[in-house]
Amino acid sequence: MVELQANLRPGAEQKVVFITARVHPGETPSSFVCQDTRRLSPLPSCIIDFLVSQHPIAKVLRDHLVFKIAPMLNPDGVYLGNYRCSLMGFDLNRHWANPSPWAHPTLHGVKQLIIEMYNNPKINLEFYIDIHAHSTMMNGFMYGNIFEDEERFQRQAVLPKLLCQNAEDFSYSSTSFNRDAVKAGTGRRFLGGLLNDTSYCYTLEVSFYSYIVAGTTTAVPYTEEAYMKLGRNVARTFLDYYRLNSLVERPLAPTPKTRAASCMFLVFWATGVQIIETLGAYSSD
Ligand SMILES: [Zn+2]
Repeated sequence: MVELQANLRPGAEQKVVFITARVHPGETPSSFVCQDTRRLSPLPSCIIDFLVSQHPIAKVLRDHLVFKIAPMLNPDGVYLGNYRCSLMGFDLNRHWANPSPWAHPTLHGVKQLIIEMYNNPKINLEFYIDIHAHSTMMNGFMYGNIFEDEERFQRQAVLPKLLCQNAEDFSYSSTSFNRDAVKAGTGRRFLGGLLNDTSYCYTLEVSFYSYIVAGTTTAVPYTEEAYMKLGRNVARTFLDYYRLNSLVERPLAPTPKTRAASCMFLVFWATGVQIIETLGAYSSD
């Protein structure tokens, strides 16, 4: 379990983003989105590496939000090379309603932690995102829940719409909301029914294969780096959702000599490597 709340003011209300991945062992792309265990990318990529980096956006996110991340919900299944099941043959993402500490220990532990947060008045668990990979669909996309409250239903669409603006491989048009009976035991469905009406629960799916950028027809094969970039864009999107953009530090730029130069700014990464990004790349690479 990774917990990031380094800079939160003492006594401040904790707005928590809870992320889980790899409940299905064969869905390896979910791990690349969440955690760059092999340090494949020279820049802070994927959700965890970006959030713990010295990137100005990551610093602002750590100042205002608490991220709790369980990057591998089914370690036994991964070790055994299972595709979908745990050591004991359970699909853990069908047992959220009543996980057993004996038969589903990782799921039971994570659910207990979420219940404790839910019962703590100082904590507002605002987002739950469970990361998977999809074997037939293209792009990244989300599954969400259906609520009778139309306003809550509309609010739930905000995060995937923002992510669609930030990530070229994420498709809002492939994002769907459902309450299929067969999905009742998933984390997204169970927690969507448990948590209060200011909480939003999603399954984030990413294709095993390719993505098509909006306005084009060519399928771009996913690489490990592209999965990690999606993870970084998921994290960055919370900056837009919570309207924290104005708090991101930018070094004072000299008076621009040309029109083009006015849309450039400098970012210094923790490694000391100097990177020049355009304003466009700042929110949507
Ligand atoms: Zn899955």
